[in-house]
Amino acid sequence: MPPRLPTLWLRRGRERSLKRRHPWVFSGAVERLAGEPGPGDTVDVRSADGEVLARAAYSPSSQIRARAWTFRDEPVDDGLIARRLASAIAARGGPTAGGPEGACRLVYAESDGLPGVIVDRYADTLVVQLLTAGAERWRETIADLLPAATGVQRVWERSDVEVRGLEGLESRVGPLAGDPPPPRIAIREGDLRLWVDVHRGHKTGAYLDQRDNRARIRELAAGRRVLDAFCYSGGFAVHALTGGAASVLAVDASTEALAMARANLELNGLAADRCELTEGNVFEVLRGLRDRAASFDLIVLDPPKFAATASQRQGAARGYKDINLLAFKLLSPGGLLATFSCSGAIGGELFQSIVAGAALDAGVEAQIVERLGQAADHPVLLSFPEAEYLRGLVCRVG
Ligand code: SAH
Repeated sequence: MPPRLPTLWLRRGRERSLKRRHPWVFSGAVERLAGEPGPGDTVDVRSADGEVLARAAYSPSSQIRARAWTFRDEPVDDGLIARRLASAIAARGGPTAGGPEGACRLVYAESDGLPGVIVDRYADTLVVQLLTAGAERWRETIADLLPAATGVQRVWERSDVEVRGLEGLESRVGPLAGDPPPPRIAIREGDLRLWVDVHRGHKTGAYLDQRDNRARIRELAAGRRVLDAFCYSGGFAVHALTGGAASVLAVDASTEALAMARANLELNGLAADRCELTEGNVFEVLRGLRDRAASFDLIVLDPPKFAATASQRQGAARGYKDINLLAFKLLSPGGLLATFSCSGAIGGELFQSIVAGAALDAGVEAQIVERLGQAADHPVLLSFPEAEYLRGLVCRVG
């Protein structure tokens, strides 16, 4: 008989969400803890009636007190982690999908049955982000398994995200396996190439979630004067130029991001004269452009997450409305606005109503001509809708 696991006993009536296979146990649902699990240790989660509902990672400092590894009676061990990694990687078409310079999210946390574990591949480098106490507990296992599971020998950790603080974890960056990565890695996106800085770049280095949408912008850009607002390393700009944009103005507040954008234009042999890179605050730059009565035929708005939590929803809504309103004012008749929110706390309906309010106040009539979202390597588990965070609308003004 295996030793009995520490047990989280739920309050009566609080078993519903686990029964629907939602993997989170909130602190308010917990009646009591039996045993003394450390952070990240595996616990049984039981209903008030004693039924074992899940085996989960315990996180004493988080409001999300436990995250389910499994809803079955099976051990949580290296074997389970290995199976989950293997099936996540297989679902992406194998570790080398996209060729030697391919880039892909191989593991997307809860959606792949590995709460708190992110693994992104950039060519010959894997970048791992461990977000939770449970993920942290299996760090060595994950580091040991990944090279064999992928054939990629270099594994770099970018666990430098704020949410770790909520889990009582420090931020950590460094090697998990193999040599440290070079300062820049070239990845392939479609038939283009892009530089990624996995040391200092945002997220694990790049915004892989927008891959398909950058390709779509390429298709929409022909002959248009394009504004790429919040351009980061210029992914949308590079695609728009390749797609035959008449001109691109790319704006970001980060000097480093713009240096990378410049390098990405060069990497793809794109004439810098069709592209202007401007450092500044998008809110101010858009107002300045409006005051000068500037006009564009395609505007991409891809701001950072304005709402990290539901409590920030209102302020975020104001931010989204402001930039969308300004963008609508800058569009020529027949112009397109590709507008995004990556705030999980802003649902699709709310985002659409914010954009609708912006169009109304801008005095334009606009239609939604396309809905966009996160790429397929960021899947949304049906029992975990929180995994969906990227909302995009392409609107055409009359
Ligand atoms: N479109 C990019 C990702 C954009 S991420 C891509 O596809 O790769 C958001 C970007 O907004 C970051 O580069 C960040 O530096 C920038 N940013 C955040 N706040 C800003 C502001 N107020 N003005 C300008 N840029 C800002």
